[in-house]
Amino acid sequence: MQTTADVRHDWTEDEVRALFELPFNDLLFRAHSVHRQHFDPNQVQVSTLLSIKTGACPEDCKYCPQSAHYDTGLEKQRLMEVEAVLAKARQAKAAGSTRFCMGAAWKHPTDRDMPYVLEMVKGVKALGLETCMTLGMLKEEHAQQLAEAGLDYYNHNLDTSPEFYDKIITTRTYQDRLDTLAHVRDAGMKICSGGILGMGETARDRIGLLLQLANLPQQPESVPINMLVKVEGTPLENVDNLDPLEFIRNIAVARILMPTSHVRLSAGREQMSDELQAMAFFAGANSIFYGECLLTTPNPETHRDLQLFKRLGINPEQRIEPSDEEQAQAIANRLQAQQDDALFYDAAH
Ligand code: SF4
Repeated sequence: MQTTADVRHDWTEDEVRALFELPFNDLLFRAHSVHRQHFDPNQVQVSTLLSIKTGACPEDCKYCPQSAHYDTGLEKQRLMEVEAVLAKARQAKAAGSTRFCMGAAWKHPTDRDMPYVLEMVKGVKALGLETCMTLGMLKEEHAQQLAEAGLDYYNHNLDTSPEFYDKIITTRTYQDRLDTLAHVRDAGMKICSGGILGMGETARDRIGLLLQLANLPQQPESVPINMLVKVEGTPLENVDNLDPLEFIRNIAVARILMPTSHVRLSAGREQMSDELQAMAFFAGANSIFYGECLLTTPNPETHRDLQLFKRLGINPEQRIEPSDEEQAQAIANRLQAQQDDALFYDAAH
C-alpha cells in the first residue's frame, strides 16, 4: 500500500546523490532497515514471464534483441494463441508463481490485437494468478479495456534518465512513456516500471532514473532494476560492464526512495552469482522473474532459483487469495470468453 506516511515524492538530486555516496555498508544497513519496516525480509515475490509475441519490433531500443533494427538472429514468433498462453500460465502456477507476465514486442497494441490480449488476461485471471502485461505504449482506451478485463499490472519501463534516453531510443520519447504510465494509472491498474543499468550511462543518469520513478505522482508498485544483457548484434553489445557493487547500490537506493514498492531483479539475473543475488535481496530486492525456462524444467526442486531460496531461507511470497466474489466474477468472465470460440484460434498478428 502506498498510504504509508514515509513515501516521499519530492526527492532531490542532491539527496539521492548523498545516498549513493554513503559508505557501502552504511547504505546497505539503511536500505535493509527500510526494507524490514515494510516487508518480510525472507519473502520474495515470484513472477513468470512469457513472451506472447517475439521479435520484429519497430522500436529501436539499443539494448533489445527484439528490435527489427538489429540482426540478432532471434527467432520471431507471431502472437500466440490464447489457449497456448493459458497452458503456460497453468504451468507457471504449478511451479509456484503468483503473477503471470505476458510480453509482446510491439510499438503498441492495435485494435485488431486487443480482443486476443483481453482473452488472455481474463483466462489467466480465472486461474487465480495475478496478471501483468507489457505491450508497448498504450492509448487511454486500450488501458481502460485491459483494466476492465482484470489486468492487475502494466509494465512499461522508463529505461534510463530523461537526459540519456535519446542515446538509447529514438522511436518514442520519454514523454510518450510517462503518458502511457499516466493512462495505466487513470485506468486503475498497478504500475511496474523501472530501468536498465550498464548501458553506458553515467552515475548521474542512474540518479536521474531513480528520481523519475520515485517522484511519480504515485510510485510504481513494482520497480524492475535490470542489468544490461549484452546481446550480439545490438548496438550495446560491447559497452563496458557496470561494477556489480554499483548495481547493488542502485537496488539499495531504490529501496530507500520507494520503501513500499517491490524492487525486482529482472534481466541480467542469470549472469549474476548467487552471492550477488543474495546481496541484492539484503539491499532490498524482493521480487524476481522465474522466466519461461522454469516452465520446462522437469523437476523444479533442482532449479537454481529454488536452491538459492533454500540456502538463504527465503520463501516465495504467497498471493492473497481472491475473495469468493472476485473468483466468481473471474469465472463468469471466463465463461463469457469461451462463448466466443473464434477468438481461441488463429490469434495471428
Ligand atoms: S519496444 Fe520493447 S520489444 Fe520493442 S525494441 Fe523496445 S524493448 Fe524491444
